[in-house]
Amino acid sequence: MAIEDVKSSINEMALAQLNLAADRIGLDLNVRTRLSSVDRALIVSVPTRMDNGRVHVFTGYRVQHNDTLGPFKGGIRYHPEVNLGEISALAMWMTWKCSLAGLPFGGAKGGIACDPTELSRNELQGMTRRYTAEILNFIGPQLDIPAPDMGTNEQIMAWIMDTYSQHKGHPVPGIVTGKPVAVGGTLGRREATGRGIAYVVEQATTHLGMQLTKCSALVQGFGNVGLVTARELARLGITVVGVSDRSGGIYNSRGLPIEDVVRFKERNKKVLHFPAGDKIDGKSFLELPCDILVPSATEMQITQENAALLKCRILVEGANGPTTPEADKILTEKEVLVIPDILANAGGVIVSYFEWVQDLQNFFWTESEVNQKLNGMLARSFHAVVELNRREHVSLRLAALMIAVQRVGRAMLLRGLYA
Ligand code: NAD
Repeated sequence: MAIEDVKSSINEMALAQLNLAADRIGLDLNVRTRLSSVDRALIVSVPTRMDNGRVHVFTGYRVQHNDTLGPFKGGIRYHPEVNLGEISALAMWMTWKCSLAGLPFGGAKGGIACDPTELSRNELQGMTRRYTAEILNFIGPQLDIPAPDMGTNEQIMAWIMDTYSQHKGHPVPGIVTGKPVAVGGTLGRREATGRGIAYVVEQATTHLGMQLTKCSALVQGFGNVGLVTARELARLGITVVGVSDRSGGIYNSRGLPIEDVVRFKERNKKVLHFPAGDKIDGKSFLELPCDILVPSATEMQITQENAALLKCRILVEGANGPTTPEADKILTEKEVLVIPDILANAGGVIVSYFEWVQDLQNFFWTESEVNQKLNGMLARSFHAVVELNRREHVSLRLAALMIAVQRVGRAMLLRGLYA
């Protein structure tokens, strides 16, 4: 299926990025055509018994972009705006992310169009189990391994693992990553994406000769990625001056006490009205002064409308696709160092890879082994990207895409076309 069949602005963005990298590396035309399409896209009905007794039919998706380098790998998103176009673009980005990190995985993504905050635990469990049953023949530890993304968490991964295992008749922990440690998850996975972002920030500030303890940061999104990022940046000595979530943002130029914000959010379900910070609306939040801006919420947050208004020196993409290509150009002119998503937030999939390896071997590592290996892999990716950016005079995003697309392209040519 051609990715153009599911036209959406986010798909166009993913295709534009592929074409830029393909032009620059002179990618074989046949390979480019194949990579512009996804391998497989499933749309499934997910009938779910609601607490009021009625059956609601949700729509679920699983899109597999390319498995040249290994089994498909990618998260599952629960969000009202999930659609085929968005999931296809996210699947393509997973192919590049795995390739850049040197992981033996291809790219996939899945999701259900729903608002998980409006569902009871019972409804969430029923919907997750039925979705798993609907895609059961297309996933597997050697075929396609889901993981958490926006709106999903360890509990949901445990239900997927249980449903799959019940169908197979034996426990299959390697079917998903991001599971609770008690059912075969790995230490350090919950924190991996945010911790990885902090490791990348350390590399980036060293690269620019900036001192961590003199830096301030803003983090948009206070979920799995944003909360851990804020906590890890504070641990490095960076002053976290603002955090935000769907309800809006809070700002304090002297720094926010992150652990207090976390407790406040646990109690009130949102960061807004935290007493030691000024209330900021979501739109103005990104334009506040800071050295490091980490959008960790959702796509297309930095566009040609607000890019010129940003005041950061480094933009670290915690979310997938938060910056549009038009905004990218403006940021390059402003000399903002943009660390692209496929590098910056790769900590999640890297530790997912560690989890999968541990599950297949039934041999588990300590958290410090996990963190040390994660740091090493991200540092290697960062240096490879910076080296190409210097040599070819291209942005970090283009350099990262060039490495990733090249690796997949070479492997495709070696494997050839099965006809
Ligand atoms: P999550 O559901 O745990 O948290 C999302 C957070 O963003 C919530 O705090 C929500 O309130 C906030 N949010 C949503 N829309 C917002 C908006 N318009 N403005 C401000 N805040 C908003 O999701 P997550 O797992 O933290 O994922 C966030 C992003 O990171 C997504 O783009 C996801 O694809 C990407 N990502 C996640 C992982 C992972 O391991 N979970 C790994 C790599 C990338």
